[in-house]
Amino acid sequence: MGKTVDLAGVAVDNVSLNEAAEIVRQFVIEGKPRLVVTPNPEMIVAAQEDEELQAIINGADLRVADGISLVVVSRILGHPLKERVSGIDLMLKLLAIGADYNYRVFLLGGAPGIAEAAASRIKQKYPGLNLVGTHDGYFAAGDESAVIKKIRAARPDLLFAGLGAGRQERWLNQHLAELGATVGLAVGGSFDVLSGRKRRAPRWVRALCLEWLYRLVTEPQRWQRQLALPKFLYLTLVKPLIAA
Ligand code: UDP
Repeated sequence: MGKTVDLAGVAVDNVSLNEAAEIVRQFVIEGKPRLVVTPNPEMIVAAQEDEELQAIINGADLRVADGISLVVVSRILGHPLKERVSGIDLMLKLLAIGADYNYRVFLLGGAPGIAEAAASRIKQKYPGLNLVGTHDGYFAAGDESAVIKKIRAARPDLLFAGLGAGRQERWLNQHLAELGATVGLAVGGSFDVLSGRKRRAPRWVRALCLEWLYRLVTEPQRWQRQLALPKFLYLTLVKPLIAA
């Protein structure tokens, strides 16, 4: 694996999308429980005041840079990350690989019905994939052990969890061993896109690295979350200069 880049105390692995997918493929072969996280500016900002989240990200088996700003900052700091590797791009790549290798895949998260809708679209696109189960991400604490049992019985190679940033990392970290899944991957709102409920930015917008702007315009309710971006830039670029 390439080197790790430190961004405001959060470790990010310097891997391309293809390298990240290959690492996960090796994780599946090895068969030990592994955690894959997708830190973005919001999570890095949250980790400043959340030691547990910071420790979970830093202790994860693979941490990919989910945001062009991470790549830009890493370049300015002189430790350039190869590229942005978003949760959904990694997921799509792994679904394609999983179709060839007949991976067992479980989708956990999203509003009721979303993971099922995502699963049925995924099945159409990747008939070779073995989709072994879905569950929504709004289960009550009292239902948690039933959810764990369901996943355990399904024995997934890949467990994609879209339970919201922070919660999904904590949940996977806490339960991975008892879940019986090989690789747990925190993928945020990916099921919303895969189900067709939400649209991703058009390809040309993504090519211009403006997906964040597209989301700001199409989901204005997110503007408060996008305030994480200037905070992230301050933490990584300005604060170290002041401290020096
Ligand atoms: N979500 C969930 N359970 C919760 C909170 C959120 O399943 O208790 C889901 C939500 O339905 C959505 C996703 O988590 O599908 C959003 O995650 P996040 O905000 O991290 O995603 P982003 O939009 O940043 O990719």
